This record gives sequence, structure tokens and C-alpha cells, in this order.
Amino acid sequence: MKNIYGPVNSRRLKLSLGISLIPDKTCSFNCIYCQLGPTKECVIERKEYVLEEDIVAELKSWLDNNITDAKQINYISFSGSGEPTLYNKIGSLIKRIKKITAIPLTVITNSSLLHIASVRKELLEAHLIIPSLDAVTKEVFQKIDRPHSGIKIEDVIEGLINLRQEFKGKIWLEVMLVKGINDDLRHIRKLKEAIEKIKPDKIHLNSPVRATAKSGIQAVDAKKLRKIKEILGDNCEII
Ligand code: SF4
Repeated sequence: MKNIYGPVNSRRLKLSLGISLIPDKTCSFNCIYCQLGPTKECVIERKEYVLEEDIVAELKSWLDNNITDAKQINYISFSGSGEPTLYNKIGSLIKRIKKITAIPLTVITNSSLLHIASVRKELLEAHLIIPSLDAVTKEVFQKIDRPHSGIKIEDVIEGLINLRQEFKGKIWLEVMLVKGINDDLRHIRKLKEAIEKIKPDKIHLNSPVRATAKSGIQAVDAKKLRKIKEILGDNCEII
């Protein structure tokens, strides 16, 4: 299988079958905590990186050949080794996949293109969206996510607010916390203000545990994570 991987077990999605729509480490960010290593191509250009027909054929073949396993799967997820909203056929692909399987679909995104109305529209038929928001100030955004120069943090937040108003499915917002970079409590309180406007169904706090793109990246300790969870409120979980 070229574009399909798994099924993968995770606490959040239980058993999910992944679909990678983007070549290895092609992303609009170059996050310091990325477990896939440094971004090879930092882009915001949306393209049909892989033929839509090939992905549909591959998925059909997997479902036909794994009938028993398919019944156990909780989600089909668009994630993989790059940013899935860079794939310009994602909307059409979601619609086509819904015609061939009832397995719920989730999109895991870094939120960088959600300020574009047409990108949000393409995601509306997914069942679950898991967007990230690691920073709310330009300074912290540059330090942690190292975005493409065309992406501004105000636009990312605005895109998330608009997504919430337009999308009827669940939104689980992920915040990756890195010690000394975005875990300062003044930054967390500003993050809370942004999250109150975004209104996600859940907030998931995470901190890096495996090898990262940049060396010297440290996880936030359990005590501080609990404090941050307390600040962010009842729908916040540490994952
Ligand atoms: S958005 Fe995801 S894939 Fe892209 S650099 Fe960050 S962690 Fe890696």
C-alpha cells in the first residue's frame, strides 16, 4: 500500500486507518517537535500530490481484502507525513470515501490553511476535525511551529473560529506544549482567550515524548501539564 497505512492504535482515535495525501514531510510548518524530522519542503501551494483515483482504488482494495479488520476500525484519518489540507482534492475525496464506507472520517491538520474559506468548505463533510493550535503570539508561533512566511497566527485563529461556525461535526483542538517555548502561563492565558472564541468540543494537551526535528526539545512536566489543564477548563484532557 502506497498511501494507506495502519490500522494504528491510539488513545484518542482507538483504531484508525491512515491515509497519507502528501509526500514525505511536505508541510506548511517546520515544527521544532515534529517526530518526522525537519520539513523537506515548506509550502502553502495546494496540489493533487497523489492522484485521487489512486487513493480511492487503494482504499477500495484494502476494504475488500480486510473485511473483518475493517469492522473494527473507528476512523479513517487523513494525516500521515505532511499537512493534509495541502491536498487540493481533499473535499472530493471525503465525499467519495463516504460513498464506499460508513467508517467515520477525521482530518488531522495544523490549521495553517483554515483561513481560506474554500479549504474549510472542503472539510465540512468529515465527521471529526483535529486541528492544532500551539501558539497565539507571533513570537511563540515562529519559535514552535516555524511556519511558511505566508502564514500569520491571527489568520490561523480566525480560520479556527470560522471553522467552528461552519462545521457541524466534532472539533478536538490539539495543543502541543514544549518546555520553555509555549508553556509560560501568560501565554497559556492568552491561548485560553483564543480557545474560548474557537469553542472546540475538546482540548487535547500533548507534550513531545519521542525524537524531535530539533534537538534539545523538552517535554512539559506532569505537574505543569495539570496546571495548564486546570486553566484551560473542563473540556481539556492530557493525552
Ligand atoms: S504540522 Fe505536523 S507534519 Fe508539519 S512540521 Fe508540524 S508536526 Fe510535523
